[in-house]
Amino acid sequence: MTLSTFAALGLAEPLLRALATEGYDDPTPIQSQAIPLALTGRDVLGIAQTGTGKTAAFGLPILQRLAENRATPAPRNPCALILAPTRELAIQIDESLRSYGRNLKLRHAVIVGGVNQNPQVQALRSGVHVLVATPGRLLDLMQQKHVQLHATTALVIDEADRMFDMGFIRDVRRIVSHLPQRRQTMLFSATMPGEVAHLVKEILRNPVSVEVSPARIAAEKVEQRVYFVPRQGKRDLLDELLRDASMKRVIVFTRTKHGANKIAGQLAKSGHEAHAIHGNKSQSARQRALNEFRNGRSRILVATDIAARGIDIDDVTHVVNFEIPEAPENYVHRIGRTARAGSGGIAIAFCDPSERDSLRSIERLLKQSLTPMRGDARAQTAQQPASSRNRQPQPRNRRSVVAQGPQPGSLKIGRLASRAP
Ligand code: AMP
Repeated sequence: MTLSTFAALGLAEPLLRALATEGYDDPTPIQSQAIPLALTGRDVLGIAQTGTGKTAAFGLPILQRLAENRATPAPRNPCALILAPTRELAIQIDESLRSYGRNLKLRHAVIVGGVNQNPQVQALRSGVHVLVATPGRLLDLMQQKHVQLHATTALVIDEADRMFDMGFIRDVRRIVSHLPQRRQTMLFSATMPGEVAHLVKEILRNPVSVEVSPARIAAEKVEQRVYFVPRQGKRDLLDELLRDASMKRVIVFTRTKHGANKIAGQLAKSGHEAHAIHGNKSQSARQRALNEFRNGRSRILVATDIAARGIDIDDVTHVVNFEIPEAPENYVHRIGRTARAGSGGIAIAFCDPSERDSLRSIERLLKQSLTPMRGDARAQTAQQPASSRNRQPQPRNRRSVVAQGPQPGSLKIGRLASRAP
């Protein structure tokens, strides 16, 4: 059964007040499923990605249990630990948990690499209830004896599949081996490859499984369009689309770091304010770019998949897939950057002839075809997908395309739809 209010899930008044301040009216499906069970201390296995509300699904029960137990953290001994694969995601989780816990007297700290460790060491020394960390820096500080985990009774591993992709699983195992056996463990992962399933068996005890089907989640209200365009025509097409003022806050995805830099540079040259974020940028440069984008000073963020993973920025109006991702799941992640928490958004894919197979895989995963738009006229006629041959004629003028909004047959699929456990 899915409960439909936060109060019915068993959350206490200070948290309900914080959620009201956040403007959350109703729980998302993953929250309805996970929160009541997690409040009882059960282990949870969540198959869900960013955009589903999973941070609150694990965060609210952890905060409530810490407050109820009146836990007092000893110096260097955090009560709860949340592990995230990227610095940006760790910082974002920390921010979310601080706002959900704003009416509780809990202390928080975040530990990530790429910045001076001293403030982090100091925070740990004064004792924290909730620690959010990336694995590398946490291990580093553990080795330096700035933090120990034998009093940590709640553990969350977020984006476990990405931990694996990024080579962090060994670090995660080492960290987990320092926690007490008696603890609550929650693990979230968008997909469940064999290695993650293995980890689940090792570290979770009799977990309840909650799942939000990935192909259906992030895309609610996202209109998905595709331009068939030769590789060398993509830059001009992007330039032209960006002249439309309705593209207010745009994330452009590229496959490579080099590509991200190049596009950001070219956009800046043509007078668009754009910043790139990717793994080769320093932590402070990434954070600066994100802040500029978040507060609206820069309209365009050019990002690689890993850098953008988990980033939560409201009101992204458009996601442009400058290159089609090879893994169809990444497409779902990318377009989940727009239409966050129920607002509308538009995803635009640029597909050159070499990317047709990747596009087909995406359409298979979504069980839908993207709406073809008129990019390059020659390319369009040469590459019309079989699935779209019978569609309505598309507008001829690219600029008017953007201004006209949704085209016939545009895709709308449910984002927060869930599968019952
Ligand atoms: P997450 O999947 O945790 O990254 O959350 C995705 C976005 O949804 C974030 O912007 C949250 O602030 C927002 N969100 C989470 N839960 C709710 C809710 N119950 N109602 C409205 N927005 C929510």
